[in-house]
Amino acid sequence: KKNLIVFGTRPEAIKMAPLVKAFEQKHEFETRVCITAQHREMLDQVLQFFEITPHYDLDLMRPNQNLYTLTAMIIESMKTVLEEFKPDFVYVHGDTTTTMAAALASFYSGAKVCHVEAGLRTFNKRNPFPEEMNRSIAGRLTDYHFAPTKTSKENLLKENIPASDITVTGNTVIDALLFSVNKLNNHHYTDSEIEQLKESIDFSKKLILITGHRRENHGEGFANICKALKTIAKNNPETQLVYPVHLNPNVQKPVYELLGNITNIKLIDPLSYPAFVWLMEKSHIIITDSGGVQEEAPSLGKPVLVMRNTTERPEAVEAGTVILVGTNTQNIVSETKKLLENKNHYQTMSKTHNPYGDGKACERIIEYIKEKYD
Ligand code: UDP
Repeated sequence: KKNLIVFGTRPEAIKMAPLVKAFEQKHEFETRVCITAQHREMLDQVLQFFEITPHYDLDLMRPNQNLYTLTAMIIESMKTVLEEFKPDFVYVHGDTTTTMAAALASFYSGAKVCHVEAGLRTFNKRNPFPEEMNRSIAGRLTDYHFAPTKTSKENLLKENIPASDITVTGNTVIDALLFSVNKLNNHHYTDSEIEQLKESIDFSKKLILITGHRRENHGEGFANICKALKTIAKNNPETQLVYPVHLNPNVQKPVYELLGNITNIKLIDPLSYPAFVWLMEKSHIIITDSGGVQEEAPSLGKPVLVMRNTTERPEAVEAGTVILVGTNTQNIVSETKKLLENKNHYQTMSKTHNPYGDGKACERIIEYIKEKYD
């Protein structure tokens, strides 16, 4: 029973790590991990925290990498891994170029493809680009679909995928989050990054945590976002904005240029996962364009403003813990103001029911897979 788990970026690593750990405890499987390293530093930080040593490191990150060569390199390098290990099942996650290309290579090899976080859709093939197409193609190549929610299962049914090949598991991001909170609360755990945050951030102020990286927001979107953050900081001196800036140069450049010198905005490097989770717990409001962050935040009782116009994650919007504010400057400013000033509104948004899962997604995946192997 040979499993190969493949991932390449930080969010995939976070969401696949608990599955790797869960499979490691099931000795009836031989489980190996292959990383494409589409992200390098940000991925390595996650591996270190979860104590995962990949069996195959394709090390494919290149300066200014583009989708054409990345895709080609992944398919080509995966061939070697697939021919050597000959896995029965290959697990890919979500919607990155790694997901799509690894699923295709695995399909060519004859292995069964298992898609974790399956069925998220905007039904607009160019938005988000290239994620919507990546996950749709991966879905076509997949044998077993692990849908995080009922809505994602319904999306797959609309694409005529047989119900028997889909199982609703919850999102593994909650498994990862609970693992991390647990590890952070262990009094033996020490973390120099967290110590540094304790020293450098004024926690007597209300903390607004920001992340943003999406390709669809590069250019004008980020300019508008930065304008909004500047206004929020200026109008609310009682707040402290903290922004771990994604390493993508299309994000770094405008953010450092436009927000570099403002007293209550702190720009820092991306945080390792435990430090980020720690900081989310300390935050008052989270403003983000990240998928993972909006799935995690409801478990920590934090309201989230999402800087996107469409979403493949409608569940939290419906549950009322997330508001889509887009990249319109005025909108971001006014929704933040409302959260800062209106206590009832704040409380409604910070209720803790999380539609994305209960921390048992990996258990459900393994139960399902066991039956498929039998
Ligand atoms: N994250 C992190 N450090 C940071 C910012 C985010 O570890 O400085 C984590 C966050 O908790 C979430 C994931 O990275 O689990 C989200 O990644 P990203 O926003 O890059 O991608 P997306 O979720 O949009 O796919």
